[in-house]
Amino acid sequence: MKQNSSLITPLTTPSKEVLGDVVELFKHLCQWTVPYGYEDDYYGRMLDDLGWKRDVADSQTINYVLDLRNGEPSGIFCAHLDTVGDEPEPINLLIDGATARTDGGTILGADDRAGVAIVLYLAHVAKLPALYLLFSGEEKGRQGSSRWVGKHGKALQGLRFAIQVDRRNETEIITHQSGKICASDVFAEALARGLDMGHEPSNKGAYTDTFELRRHVPECVNIAAGYRNPHQEEEEQNLDYLARLCERLARLDYGALPIERVPELSDLAG
Ligand SMILES: [Zn+2]
Repeated sequence: MKQNSSLITPLTTPSKEVLGDVVELFKHLCQWTVPYGYEDDYYGRMLDDLGWKRDVADSQTINYVLDLRNGEPSGIFCAHLDTVGDEPEPINLLIDGATARTDGGTILGADDRAGVAIVLYLAHVAKLPALYLLFSGEEKGRQGSSRWVGKHGKALQGLRFAIQVDRRNETEIITHQSGKICASDVFAEALARGLDMGHEPSNKGAYTDTFELRRHVPECVNIAAGYRNPHQEEEEQNLDYLARLCERLARLDYGALPIERVPELSDLAG
């Protein structure tokens, strides 16, 4: 439960140069741990400046939405703003070659800041036409995404896919979360070919926010984010992988991805 918003220093809006370099952007985001309830205190000012709209479920569950759809069939890019823990703590960020970690005093929170950095890059630099969502409280049971989908799910009709970058390591594209089919292998394989980084479909996912979106959106995946040891002080992020993945996502032909899964039918099938 949130204690006191003055515990955390709000994030400043990154310069154009920082926003345009996903590794610099990631480093900029890694100044505090951001437990559920503190997302708005930390990210709010920056997201206001960048044109995002708040969607308030309750005083500590605040999601952010940026709708850049242009009428064409498109999809969703999403990430979660919170990190594990109960109290915000300042991070001492260490960069060792292509690896980001902390001094061991706190987690890094690359889970899911790697995803947040990519979402911001795709929206504000690549400017891909899509619906962008940044969720609160994923680590406390997908509080933000479950409430957002409960309120807005029916408005997701016509969206073809939802992509989140929130899986540990560097190889998986998660198609099944908690045993439920969230995306077809055909979609995941085509996405892997498009990225050309050696990813493979995996049915071993637990949960992230795209699990909630699966009720309304046909193809909902979770791509490896390049972080290791999430939720631990030993957490680290592969910055080269982050840069490569972001660059590939920015120039993928999303219209060419095959859409096979039917939300309602897949859910009945388990
Ligand atoms: Zn996560």
